[in-house]
Amino acid sequence: MIHNPCGDLNPNATCMVHKNGTTKCRFNFPKSYQEVTSLVDDGKPNYRRRYNPQLDPHSPQFSHEHAVYRKDINGHRITRDNRHVAPYNAYLLKKFNCHINVEYVGSILAVKYLYKYIYKGHDCASIKVIEEQRTLIYNEANTYIEGRCVTPPEACWRLFAFEIQKKSHSVQRMDIHLPGQYRIVNLDQIHEDLADIGQRGSTLEAYFKHNAEIKRHNQSSVKQSVISNVSREYNFYWRMPENFKWVGRSSKWEPRVRRLRVIGRIHNVNFVAQPELYHLRLLLFHVKDATSFEDLRTVTDIQYQISVIQSIIQSIIQYQYINKPA
Ligand SMILES: [Zn+2]
Repeated sequence: MIHNPCGDLNPNATCMVHKNGTTKCRFNFPKSYQEVTSLVDDGKPNYRRRYNPQLDPHSPQFSHEHAVYRKDINGHRITRDNRHVAPYNAYLLKKFNCHINVEYVGSILAVKYLYKYIYKGHDCASIKVIEEQRTLIYNEANTYIEGRCVTPPEACWRLFAFEIQKKSHSVQRMDIHLPGQYRIVNLDQIHEDLADIGQRGSTLEAYFKHNAEIKRHNQSSVKQSVISNVSREYNFYWRMPENFKWVGRSSKWEPRVRRLRVIGRIHNVNFVAQPELYHLRLLLFHVKDATSFEDLRTVTDIQYQISVIQSIIQSIIQYQYINKPA
């Protein structure tokens, strides 16, 4: 499947688009030569496109027998090579006898894309007609009854009441931030909340408070505490939503009455851009009884700077994965 001549050879080709002051092929043809296929994160793969001297008119090994010819805008014969091949599947081309572009999709975003197309509903438009007196004509019955085309497979699927979708767990996003740097979503609220900012906080700060409560309870001789009915065992930060419910209004972790399928996820931190935060996140995966940021980086009663912990972790990683004898 060869991409038709475009670019300087045919500026009027349908694939040519004008963008940022330049006109170029929207499929980025011709592609560059590639010795091997390479995959890039969240992008299209770069397929193998080897150089073949038999297809190159400038090469002494050029062969008219193997050459692939097309015509440019002036009707001149031009050669095409591996750089102009649109990714295809030979079986599908033969089977359906038409152009089918097949490309590998490895990005997780594809799931989101498919999900949207399946569940966004059928195409429809609503039209409101306003009379001269500017009165809105509203026909409730017509609004309710929407015209819809249902194909036999979809009709059967619905008649048999098969599942349309399935969801297993809900995901609780967990804050990750350095001391005093948690995100406030609604900026308008800052001034009003400044007074009681000590009480309000992030899921991480509430987690530290929760642990402090457990610690106090375990140390006190009188076993009475506000968490008397709560599990007194420490949880890893990311596992908190499994047993506790986050109550944003009071910024507290409260024990779950009903057991729900919830998992916690701490969002990723870029090691290069935020090394301190990255290591803080790493520590939270291994320490479950920290009662504060300081406590988190305290080992055998010695409080370390996060930078020291950073280098210790790096040395461990280096030992485990790089220098470790086989
Ligand atoms: Zn093109």
